[in-house]
Amino acid sequence: MRPDLRAAIRARIRDIPDFPSPGIVFKDITPLLGDAGLLALSVESMAAPWRGQRVTHVAAPESRGFVFGAPVAIALGAGFVPLRKRGKLPWRTRQQAYALEYGEDVVEAHEDAVGPGARVLVVDDVLATGGTAEAACRLMESLGATVVGLSMLMSLDFLAGRERLAGRRVEALVRYA
Ligand code: AMP
Repeated sequence: MRPDLRAAIRARIRDIPDFPSPGIVFKDITPLLGDAGLLALSVESMAAPWRGQRVTHVAAPESRGFVFGAPVAIALGAGFVPLRKRGKLPWRTRQQAYALEYGEDVVEAHEDAVGPGARVLVVDDVLATGGTAEAACRLMESLGATVVGLSMLMSLDFLAGRERLAGRRVEALVRYA
């Protein structure tokens, strides 16, 4: 990806200190989403490394994962699998729990979302601690799918999500050291 285009994407990601709680710097992507050219460029750049990988499905956690996941799926000629929080999906679900700073959370997918033979790309806006992404991968694998890798808009590398996902291919358009 051209460095000037990467810089343009970075410039449209806004830091919001102490949101949603003290000490967190929230990465606000709404300026990027509102820019037609950079939105299209972001989607295309998140899809590009995975062309030729025979991706059959893109799986993405709600809700900002959906914003990039569905268009990346279309760009790759793949289906889309919504990963949701507990109790939101209407049919039979498979769950994967993951640890939060306090307590735990769960991601769910429909049992028939993917199966053996599926080649899944996991997409989200932010890779932070990697808990969400790791749970998404395990959930897909528990249904018999192969996880090809992860495509993120940005990664917060100081939070070591990449170490948590060691052995998996992780691509991010913007990295914060
Ligand atoms: P984690 O499971 O810690 O990797 O967190 C990833 C999820 O939380 C993603 O779905 C992000 O949308 C969200 N997230 C985590 N940290 C931030 C942040 N600093 N700014 C915006 N979103 C975040």
